[in-house]
Amino acid sequence: MTLQRRLEGTIRDVPDFPTPGILFKDITPVLADPVLLADVIDAMAAPYAGRGITHVVGVESRGFLFGVPVALALGVPFAPARKPSKLPWRTQREAYALEYRKDVLEMHVDALGTPGQVAARVLVIDDVLATGGTAMATCRLVERLGGEVAAVAVVVELGFLNGRAALAGREVHAVVGF
Ligand code: 5GP
Repeated sequence: MTLQRRLEGTIRDVPDFPTPGILFKDITPVLADPVLLADVIDAMAAPYAGRGITHVVGVESRGFLFGVPVALALGVPFAPARKPSKLPWRTQREAYALEYRKDVLEMHVDALGTPGQVAARVLVIDDVLATGGTAMATCRLVERLGGEVAAVAVVVELGFLNGRAALAGREVHAVVGF
């Protein structure tokens, strides 16, 4: 069976979460299957081996779950992009609009190297690409720190929400699309 089929059969659809009308893709059953999880991590990392990736940036919080093993697979540093006031050191921040509210992501100013001397080629990792707002804010944050976004890689792309278009030409890789 293909990896896509295995994911389709494993990811759980949860209606009306977190708010009425939203059909939430629950990826926790993927985490509960170590053989599937290893194959997902390989599918996210393998296309970027030998492409000069210097850092993996994972988006809070489910992006950490996939980002850390992808960074280990590529043998490069992992850096978290976090919700506001979570990171202890000096941060750079990026505000972005969600459907009904604003949110902020932050990274440490030295997460990609010494400020002013950054030469990072970054793979951005999250679990789900929906409207693309979160991934776009992360890309902007990486670029603000002086890094270049090589690609955004996700487990699931909700294609009908056009997140790819929001990412304005940046490379997007999804293991499975719905
Ligand atoms: P976007 O900013 O692209 O609209 O939403 C993507 C962000 O929201 C990601 O960080 C992702 O974790 C979360 N998200 C949105 N919809 C879903 C979903 O159906 N399932 C999961 N697991 N996360 C979602």
